[in-house]
Amino acid sequence: MKLKDKSVIITGAASGIGKDIALRFAREGAKVAIADLQKAAADATAQEIRAAGQIALGVAMDVADEEAVNEGVAATIAEFGGVDILVSNAGIQIVHPIEEFPFAEWKKMLAIHLDGAFLTTKACLSHMYKSGRGGSIIYMGSVHSKEASLLKAPYVAAKHALIGLCKVVAKEGAQYGVRANVICPGFVRTPLVEKQIPEQAKTLGISEEDVVKKIMLKDTLEGEFTTLEDVSETALFCAAFPSNAMTGQSLVVSHGWFMQ
Ligand code: NAD
Repeated sequence: MKLKDKSVIITGAASGIGKDIALRFAREGAKVAIADLQKAAADATAQEIRAAGQIALGVAMDVADEEAVNEGVAATIAEFGGVDILVSNAGIQIVHPIEEFPFAEWKKMLAIHLDGAFLTTKACLSHMYKSGRGGSIIYMGSVHSKEASLLKAPYVAAKHALIGLCKVVAKEGAQYGVRANVICPGFVRTPLVEKQIPEQAKTLGISEEDVVKKIMLKDTLEGEFTTLEDVSETALFCAAFPSNAMTGQSLVVSHGWFMQ
């Protein structure tokens, strides 16, 4: 029980990586708010956790909407009595070459990945500072926080920016006992990635098999996807770390695709 009685908000937790972290944290004794745009799916995940005898709450939240974020964080605090850990994870992917990237889609990407991280951080930090309990903020970055790929301009820009945001949160939060770190996974087979395979095949004029082998896993050491468990284990390591010695860091989990 590494997170016994810790109150946690995880954005984008109705699917993929966020959901797996929610299930894992709940098994470790945390009270978990499943904050997601898809309310019905968030409720279903919360129900799955409660059916296993653990504590969870489904929360409707568009991370790019300040009011929705503040309301969702307030609802979680009212239910759980505080917030100790934020996992800012909600994300989408849109791919185009830069010269064809619609400005509206660029803005949507930055709103979800970067504004969402800022707004949820701001809402949780003010509570963490006042509570005197400190806290841990975890951003879901990517190998794309360190490396670039074709067609992903706003994703790569936003994921790099999360490292900058994390370092400022680490500096400002230290005096209040708040730490911040970024997890940078390689490709994980979630709905977000499954959707990209045919899209990239079409845009690049290659087979789906080649998108996986020659693009996604090309630079990994064993040609393997990172798994949900790999990412959840890293999130648990960050969340349960016993002191604030580890802060302002980015941890890459990618089968060696990127080495620091
Ligand atoms: P996913 O599509 O399985 O899940 C994303 C979740 O975010 C969904 O439940 C969706 O409803 C939610 N969401 C989308 N927009 C939202 C919004 N505006 N407000 C609240 N919730 C919203 O995707 P995933 O692969 O699990 O990705 C989760 C995070 O991990 C993303 O930040 C992604 O960039 C990052 N990541 C994924 C991979 C990968 O290979 N899958 C690799 C590195 C980083």
